[in-house]
Amino acid sequence: MNIVLLGPPGAGKGTQARKLQGSHQFDIISTGDILREEIKNGSPIGLQVKKTMEAGLYPSDEPIIQVFENRLKQIKEKNLVLDGIPRTLNQAQKVDEVFERLGTCLDIVIQISVDDKELIQRLSNRVICKTCSAPYTAELSPLVSGVCDKCNGTEFIRRPDDEPEAIKTRLNVYNEQTKPLLQYYSQTNRLRVVDGMQSVKEVTKQIESLVGDIPQGLQDVSSRNRERG
Ligand SMILES: [Zn+2]
Repeated sequence: MNIVLLGPPGAGKGTQARKLQGSHQFDIISTGDILREEIKNGSPIGLQVKKTMEAGLYPSDEPIIQVFENRLKQIKEKNLVLDGIPRTLNQAQKVDEVFERLGTCLDIVIQISVDDKELIQRLSNRVICKTCSAPYTAELSPLVSGVCDKCNGTEFIRRPDDEPEAIKTRLNVYNEQTKPLLQYYSQTNRLRVVDGMQSVKEVTKQIESLVGDIPQGLQDVSSRNRERG
């Protein structure tokens, strides 16, 4: 089955995607990671998006969809979590077209919903490893032990775009961009909402119950109310 985790910065999408990778053998397609790789390799797509991405902006839809399709062709037999795509309504429609061309589909979109106020607090508590940029919040172990899980680095810094004013701007942009996406997925009965205000563990549990409920490759998913207490 193929899913998208949708949520504002700080909602825990990355963390939850890695949980699915561990528990359900999902592969993660991260278009941001792929594009960074293309830039490193100096490929035509890499050269096309280099300037934009290095300026901290999102590339246009075309190269994003192209790398997505290329990757999907390689691994379409697997369970997939999409990370960083789609960000716009146009991308969402293109993603559906690509899946259809390859004889599969996007099953569900799980929105991790968190209040702006809570997000601002979380993101301003977030630090990254100075060496490898892995993000951490107070509730994650490396900050207690003082050692990065990924690279054993011991220095942690705050990202410039995690300053409160920058966070507010990012959230406003996110909310504006996402509205049409939520509507699109809701109209096609694929939108599920998980309460992201709960603990990481509880959010994982809710996501796993949604994932476990849906048979692989089912086109027309039921719109049953799946809210759990
Ligand atoms: Zn590190």
